[in-house]
Amino acid sequence: MPVALRSNLLQRKEFDAFPLDRPLERNWADGNRMATSVSCACGSARLRFHSPAPAFTGECCCEDCRQACEWAETMGCKAKVSHSDPTLLAYYQNDMCVEAGRERLRAFRLREGGESVRIVATCCYSPMCTDHPAYLKRVVLTFPQLSVVSPPPATPPDMLMVKQEWPTSFTPLASTGRDPFKGRAFNTHSDALFLATFVFRVLSRGRTGGLGSTVQGLVESLGGVHTLGLPKGQGLVGPTKGQTLTPPPPAGAGLTPIRVAGVAVLALGVILRARALKTR
Ligand SMILES: [Zn+2]
Ligand SMILES: [Zn+2]
Repeated sequence: MPVALRSNLLQRKEFDAFPLDRPLERNWADGNRMATSVSCACGSARLRFHSPAPAFTGECCCEDCRQACEWAETMGCKAKVSHSDPTLLAYYQNDMCVEAGRERLRAFRLREGGESVRIVATCCYSPMCTDHPAYLKRVVLTFPQLSVVSPPPATPPDMLMVKQEWPTSFTPLASTGRDPFKGRAFNTHSDALFLATFVFRVLSRGRTGGLGSTVQGLVESLGGVHTLGLPKGQGLVGPTKGQTLTPPPPAGAGLTPIRVAGVAVLALGVILRARALKTR
């Protein structure tokens, strides 16, 4: 690699972990077909991800995914929350840029202490992408049912998440063929196997540095995160508006000693795997 280009790369902090002994990925220069675009419903705002396919996908039954979508609906987003399909999630590598409509984008969190930062296109209130500390700055979440993701992620989803929070008043997961799930299904966010599986998938993604900017940079450029103050778990639209929908957790669901031990062992495995990837 020419010295000038090499030193140029080193000045950009996104390249801090970029291995200089590997060839630069140039796919993005070939045009849109080698990347993924995420547009809002009206087409005014558009993000671009370096990767043409998600790192992994899932369907989430959790109350926060559902409430974020319902809030978007109250603001005018045309996509509606389904009472028979959990929220489809597609995680892309954190290598992205804004292609159009930066002035339309705003960052929100659902409530004080809410950890997800949700970037929404305020022209039509399409949720564009979301960041969370658990993504370790490696991946970014998108909602393919609520924005226009192109190419759309291939089905079926890799896992079914947070089954516990699927409301009993919605269509039962079993009657849509999801339970039992062909693949991995997890009951809660704190399920030890879920945490280990998720962190493993996140850490399995290296940094590509293709587009040179990240979701954290985008949030910073938007000048602050607006807090919505929504009550946790509360329905915001339709017949369940104003109700707290999540069923109570089953007895013995919290962090028992055996679960804590399980998480510790799995976390150790994940850390060792991450180290192995780093030194490879
Ligand atoms: Zn729009
Ligand atoms: Zn969720």
